[in-house]
Amino acid sequence: MLSAEIIAVGSELLTPLRTDTNSLWLTEKLNDIGIEVKLKTVVGDDEARLEEAIRDALKRSEIVITTGGLGPTEDDVTRQVSAKAVERDLVYHDELEAELRERFKRWGRDMPEINKRQAFVIDGADVLPNPNGSAVGMFLPLVGKCLAVFPGPPREMRPMFEDFVFPKLKVLAGDVLVKRRILRVSGMGESAVDEIIAPIYKSYPDVQTSILFSRVEIEIHLIARSPSSEEAAAVLTELTEKICSALGPAVFATNGETMEEVVGSLLKARGKTVSVAESCTGGMIGMRLTEVSGSSAYFIEGSVVYSNESKLRTLNVSELTLRDHGAVSSETAEAMAKGMRERSGSDFAISVTGIAGPDGGTEEKPVGTVFIGYSDPRRTRSMKFVFPGDRELIRWRSSQAALDYLRRQILKETSN
Ligand code: AMP
Ligand code: MG
Repeated sequence: MLSAEIIAVGSELLTPLRTDTNSLWLTEKLNDIGIEVKLKTVVGDDEARLEEAIRDALKRSEIVITTGGLGPTEDDVTRQVSAKAVERDLVYHDELEAELRERFKRWGRDMPEINKRQAFVIDGADVLPNPNGSAVGMFLPLVGKCLAVFPGPPREMRPMFEDFVFPKLKVLAGDVLVKRRILRVSGMGESAVDEIIAPIYKSYPDVQTSILFSRVEIEIHLIARSPSSEEAAAVLTELTEKICSALGPAVFATNGETMEEVVGSLLKARGKTVSVAESCTGGMIGMRLTEVSGSSAYFIEGSVVYSNESKLRTLNVSELTLRDHGAVSSETAEAMAKGMRERSGSDFAISVTGIAGPDGGTEEKPVGTVFIGYSDPRRTRSMKFVFPGDRELIRWRSSQAALDYLRRQILKETSN
C-alpha cells in the first residue's frame, strides 16, 4: 500500500487561533483510495524547518503533500523552499502572470508587484489551476514518488485536490477498494472489550481494527482493503458477526448507527411507542430521540420533572415514596416511569433520576448516582448506576444508559 505524508505550513496553525483541518480532510480522501497517511507535520513559516520537513518526508513516503504558504507575502515560503528541497529551480511562467493580472483587473485593481512571485513554478511540475484564488498549486512527479503543493485555504485546496491530484493518485494506488464498518458497544469498558475481541480481530491481519472510546460508548472501527469491493465487504461481515457473538447484546450498532437511531428502529419495527420522564438529564433523552427524523412514529412525549413537586403533580409519584426513599431512588425512578407510561398511554416509558453534581452528593448517594426506571404494561423495574465524570459526562452517560436499558428491554420483551 502506498504511504503518504502531509505537511501543513503556517505559523498560525501552531497556535490556538487556527486549526489545521486540511490534513484531516486529505487523510480521509487518501484513505478512501487505499493510500495510508502515516505522518503529518505542522511547520511554522520557517524556511529551514520547512526544507528539512519536506526533505525528510520525501525520504520516507511515496506521496508528500504540503498545504499553505503559497501566498504572495514575505512570510509565505513554500514555493521557493519546496523547490530547494527537491533541488530544482523555480521557472517563471508568463501565462500565469498574465492570468494574475487579468484576475486583478476583474476586481478593478492593479496587481501588486509582489504577486509576480505566484507566477513561479518548480521546474518539471504540473501547474494545478486555482479557480478560487491567486496561488496555483504544483504536482511534481519524482522517481517512485511525488510531491503535491497546495494553497492553504480549504476552499482553494479541496477542489484543486479533487480535480487534478485525486485522479492521478487513484491510478498510482491501483485497484484497492476500502470498506469500513463502525460497531458500537455500550455498558462495557475499553479494556474489557479488547480482552474479548483481540483474539478474534488478530486473526484478521488484513483488517485494520481500532478500538476508540467516546464519552458514552466504545467504537470498534474496522477497515478492510481488497482488490474487490465484495471481498472487502464479505470479510467485514464475517468479522462483525464474530465480534457480535462474542460481545452479545452489548453491541448495539454494526453500521455506525447512533443509540437513538437503534432504539428508534426497534420501536418502529415493532409498532411500539415510548415516553420519557427526565430529572437530572433535563430533556437530553427526549432531545436525542427526536433528533432522528421520523421519530414522531414512536415518540409520544417527554417531561422534565426536576422538582419533587412536579414529579408528584405530573407523574403521580406519591408523597410517601418521595419522603421515604428520596427523589434519587429506585422507588422514585420506577414510579416516574410507571406514571409517565400511564399518563401518555405509550407502550414503554423510561425515567431518569440522579445526582449530576458537583453538589448534592451524600455518602450514601455520591455524585454520579443515577437510577433509571423502565415500565411496560407487564412490569416496572429500575437499575442503579454510579457514573464517574463531571456534570456533563454524568448527564450524557445517564441518557445513554437509559436508552440502552430501553433497548435491551425491548429486545427481551419481544424475544419471549
Ligand atoms: P496560506 O496559503 O499560507 O497563505 O494560507 C492562507 C489561509 O488558509 C490561512 O490563513 C488559513 O486560514 C488557511 N489555512 C492554511 N493552512 C490551513 C490548514 N492546514 N488547514 C486549514 N486552513 C488552513
Ligand atoms: Mg500562511
